[in-house]
Amino acid sequence: MKAGLVVHHIGELWTTHRRPPVKGSRMNDVTVLRDAFLAVSDGVIVGFGSGTGEDFVGPATIVRDARGMVMTPGLVDGHTHLVHAGSREHEFSLKLQGVPYLDILKRGGGILSTVANTRAASFDDLYDQARKSLGRMLSFGVTTVEAKSGYGLDQKNERKILEVVRALDGSQPVSLIPTYMGAHAVPSEYAFDRDGYVASVLADLETIRRDGLAESVDVFCEAGVFTLAETKRILLRAKELGLAVRVHADEIVSTGGAGLAAELGCASADHLMAISDRDILALAGSDTVANLLPGTSFYLGHDYAPARKLIQANVAVAVASDYNPGSCPSENFQFTMQLAANRLKMTPSEVLTAATINPAFHLGRADRIGSIGVGKDADFVLFDAPNFEYVLYHFGVNLAADVYKKGRRVIADGRPVKE
Ligand SMILES: [Zn+2]
Repeated sequence: MKAGLVVHHIGELWTTHRRPPVKGSRMNDVTVLRDAFLAVSDGVIVGFGSGTGEDFVGPATIVRDARGMVMTPGLVDGHTHLVHAGSREHEFSLKLQGVPYLDILKRGGGILSTVANTRAASFDDLYDQARKSLGRMLSFGVTTVEAKSGYGLDQKNERKILEVVRALDGSQPVSLIPTYMGAHAVPSEYAFDRDGYVASVLADLETIRRDGLAESVDVFCEAGVFTLAETKRILLRAKELGLAVRVHADEIVSTGGAGLAAELGCASADHLMAISDRDILALAGSDTVANLLPGTSFYLGHDYAPARKLIQANVAVAVASDYNPGSCPSENFQFTMQLAANRLKMTPSEVLTAATINPAFHLGRADRIGSIGVGKDADFVLFDAPNFEYVLYHFGVNLAADVYKKGRRVIADGRPVKE
């Protein structure tokens, strides 16, 4: 058959070929083809391999030469707090001057300041700010993003955020997968009535599900935020309603959140800087993906999650940006991958697996995205790099030259392609 697009003379093509979740040592098992080609028709991959792909070239085929470039599947960022209003650079300055976080909270800073800004913001303001961030993510090679609510903390504003996510999906190139996270913090109006807030989250789940506003539900299970028992109540109800579930777990202290994630069959357990050995074993015995967020450790100056230990224990590991205005204000997913290599000590093959197929799996999209395979969406990145190791080595700059979404070039030479 003749393809609509053939990219050939690709310096290196890197992709996973394992069935997800790809666990432990199998994360190193990737395909690397040199001087390779990829053929695309109607937005779908119809062939790839070594050689020039000349069998796919007809008179109407667009042929692109990718000499000296590295191709990977489109990157999948499986944990972001994309939609929010404002920024917190003043807080950052205070922090650098040594002002304790609790004092920053008393001065009206912290997560609740973003909640106040987000509640005050219009739909259009939130849409515009998030769209700008998505454009940046795309330029770094990210073609699919999970986006959580959680800065509204009341029914009206949580819905507003999820409706922004819905409006953004399809109106720009990055695919969005929405997560409801009403249990991100207890809002100040419920400061003395935690049970009342948990009850309101449980009630909101019904309408979120009814209106198809989210595919999964997330809870911030942490000392001083939501307890293990509250987390379980919310996630069990979400499961009953047929939603996928996930947990922000063991970020600062080990509360057993990752163990609960394994017990409930969560799609992902996220952060895990303080995970216990027992809970590592629990994850290894489940299909729950350990979703590590090294950018947050970097930005806060905290410990990094024990990636080597998790991989040795046969856990499936993913990495994500955790893009948010408080603890990781950056859309540079390549930097996340570079930290995975540099700080989490993951091998290049493990980083690729953790940035493509494993997040595609925990987002429920592994049948369409996350690897180069015949019949899959033609989402891919061409890096201006002699090999994939170089992408993890040359840090802090953007090495993505061209980004394709469903076979359409949406970033060319690092710049957005105008429609
Ligand atoms: Zn988060």
